[in-house]
Amino acid sequence: MDILEFLNGSVTPYHTVESLKTVLEAKKDNSVRLFERGGALIAVRLPRKVCSDSRFRIALAHTDYPTLKISPNPDALAAGVRTLHPEIYGSPLFTSWLDRDLGYAGLLAYELDGKLQTKLIRGNRLFRIPQLAVHLNRGVNQDGLKVNPQTDLNALWTSVGGKERFVDALSAELPAGAKLLDFDVQLFDAQPAVYGGFDEEWIYSGRLDNLSSCHAVVEAFAAADALENDFQVAAFFNNEEVGSETREGAAGNFLKSVLENVAMSAALDSSTSLRSAQNDKSLSSLVCSELANVLSSSFALSIDMAHACHPNFVQKHESNHAPVLGGGVVLKMNSQKRYASDVFSNARFKLLCGQNNIPYQTFVMRNDMPCGSTVGPAISASLGIPTVDIGEPMLSMHSIREMTAKKDHQGMIALVSAFYL
Ligand SMILES: [Zn+2]
Repeated sequence: MDILEFLNGSVTPYHTVESLKTVLEAKKDNSVRLFERGGALIAVRLPRKVCSDSRFRIALAHTDYPTLKISPNPDALAAGVRTLHPEIYGSPLFTSWLDRDLGYAGLLAYELDGKLQTKLIRGNRLFRIPQLAVHLNRGVNQDGLKVNPQTDLNALWTSVGGKERFVDALSAELPAGAKLLDFDVQLFDAQPAVYGGFDEEWIYSGRLDNLSSCHAVVEAFAAADALENDFQVAAFFNNEEVGSETREGAAGNFLKSVLENVAMSAALDSSTSLRSAQNDKSLSSLVCSELANVLSSSFALSIDMAHACHPNFVQKHESNHAPVLGGGVVLKMNSQKRYASDVFSNARFKLLCGQNNIPYQTFVMRNDMPCGSTVGPAISASLGIPTVDIGEPMLSMHSIREMTAKKDHQGMIALVSAFYL
C-alpha cells in the first residue's frame, strides 16, 4: 500500500490495525498467523521447518500517536456554540492543534438484542479549535503562545439548534435499536498526507510518529517469504505514547503470549509430522521452558521515529550526533538506557546496514536535555531479546502535522526487508 494511502486511512490505532491487515491479507500466505488485541496487532510467519536453531526475527513499532480523546461526558455550551472537552492522550504539541480541520474517529461499543458488539467509525464532519485573535492576545508574538490544556482545547463541533449531546451524534452511527455503551473516539488531522519540498523529497502528514514505521515494517513483512528455520514477527503495539503498560502495549504480555503460542504449536506440528530423535530435540528447544533461551539469541528491531536536526535550531542537538533529513536510518543510543541499543545489538545493526548498502546515522541526546524512550527497552528487558532502537529522522515530532524524508522511509523499508531475508 502506498505510504500516503496508509497514512490517510490510519486515523486511530484501530484503523491502523485495519490498514495493516489489508496489506497482510492481500498476499495469501498460509504460513502467516495474525493476533489482534485492542488497537495492537502481531503477525508471525512460520518457518518452513522448525529446528533447534530456529529463532525469532522481530520488528516492533507502535500504532498510537499523541492526540485529543473525546472525554466520557464532553458536552459544554459557551458563546452560543456547543463544544467538546477532550482528554489529552500522550504529549501532543498543543499549539499545532489550533486552527486545524479536525476529524473524529474511533471505536463504539454497543448492545443490540442482548449482545455486546463494536463498530469502527470515522465521522464525515470537521470540527475546530480556533486560536484567539492577535487583537485579543496582544503579546502573543513576543511572549509565545501558551495553551492551557484544561480550558483552551475544547473543540467547537456544532451550533445551538442542532444536536445537543455528542453521544447522540455517535449513536446515529449505530444500527437501529442499538444502545451505545461506551466509546473510544479521538480527534485527528483531517488534512491528507502529501509529498512536499521542491523535489517532493519529503512527506508531510499527521501521525508519522509512528505510522511511518508501521508502514515500513508491514511492507517489508508482507513482501518477505518464509525462511528455512527462523520465525518472522511484526509487532504493532498500542499505547506507546502513554508508557506501554497496558494489555495491548509493549510492556504487557501480548508479545510473550503470542511467541509462546506459536512456538508451542510449531513444536507440536513438527513432533507429529517428523518423529526422528533429532526432531524430538527440536521440539524440546522450542517449548515454553526453552523459550527464554531462544529469545536471548533472537533479535529485535525497535522502530520509532527519531529527531532530525532542525535547521533553525541546530544547537538543540549534540553536534557530533545530529541526524539530518535524508541522511539515512537513525541508530538511537542512550547510556541511561532509555533506548535498548547496546554494543551487541548496535554491531548487528551496523553489519546489516553494511551488507546491504543502507546508510545510517547516529543519535545521542545532549547531556543537558532529557532523552525520550520507546517500545524497545520494555520488550528487551521483559523478554530478554537483544534489541536495537532505530528510526527515520523527522521534524515536528508530536505536532498534528509532521514531516519526514521519502528517502529515509525507503531506507527503512530496505533495512527491514533485509532483516527478514
Ligand atoms: Zn513514537
